[in-house]
Amino acid sequence: MTTELVLLGTAGAPMPVAGRAGISSALIVDERIFVIDCGRGSPSAFVDAGLDFTRLEAVFITHLHADHTGDLPGMLLYPWGVRSGAKGPLAPIRVYGPSQPEELPTGDANFRRETTIDPSLPAPGATDLVEKILVAYAYHLNVMPLDALMPDAGELVRGIDIRFPARPASGSQTPVAVFEDGTVQVKAVAVTHGRAVPALAYRFDTADGSVVFSGDTTVNEDLIALAQGADILVHSVADLNYLARHGIVGRMAALHTDVSEVGAVAERAHVHELILNHYLPAEPEAITDAEWAARAGQGFAGRTTAGRDGLRRAVPYVGA
Ligand SMILES: [Zn+2]
Repeated sequence: MTTELVLLGTAGAPMPVAGRAGISSALIVDERIFVIDCGRGSPSAFVDAGLDFTRLEAVFITHLHADHTGDLPGMLLYPWGVRSGAKGPLAPIRVYGPSQPEELPTGDANFRRETTIDPSLPAPGATDLVEKILVAYAYHLNVMPLDALMPDAGELVRGIDIRFPARPASGSQTPVAVFEDGTVQVKAVAVTHGRAVPALAYRFDTADGSVVFSGDTTVNEDLIALAQGADILVHSVADLNYLARHGIVGRMAALHTDVSEVGAVAERAHVHELILNHYLPAEPEAITDAEWAARAGQGFAGRTTAGRDGLRRAVPYVGA
């Protein structure tokens, strides 16, 4: 069998930037495709990478911020027309992601919420998101089949919430088994990304090896435990000093891992390769790939690679 990682987009934060697509990755296991996050431009990046929408099996959302979910509607709706085979509609695309949080975080001294969108469900989970996408696009889904041959809309997608047991008062989390079919195993832990609760990291294991996606997180012990011995750790990275110098303050240190910290994360996780993504700042000209890699690789004995859109890596990596 073969397992291959492709970075579809590597920009962090919702604001579009020139020259870098929004956050999204794909893991290709033989002919099957698993997508992790659907940021800005991910459906286009998917075809740019030569991937086939009939092979898209599941999407794994790390958390429900728009930079990770904004092009989920497109990832589902654009390729709808090809989602059928000789025996009728293909199996629904499964979308895994966080369940509803237990409560909507309240405001604080910096942010007093004046308007609550959808007070009856102010913090929807992944299944809600999928259902609401279908509702919002009901016109397309109900009317377009009259003019173009389309598979049954009811077979397009299934949302699946990942539920976490109550966090132990002390000690480490037990990873949640998300998916297992004898070929691919996916596990998740909750990481730390400000008020985005839960935000998830995922580990994929196949017979070829293992790839871990940090999602957005501060330095997180449960992520380090999840990533132990992985072939590749795809980790988000921020230059918090750069952001502060450019007036982007807020609570960034409660949201992201600084470039000076990520090498130690990779070292302690004993991974073979650290691949950076979800850059903050996202603009490609702000910090060069070489600088990102050099700074991030401090303290890490393995290989550090500044991820870029379209980067491919076979698992296990056997290159130069
Ligand atoms: Zn993000």
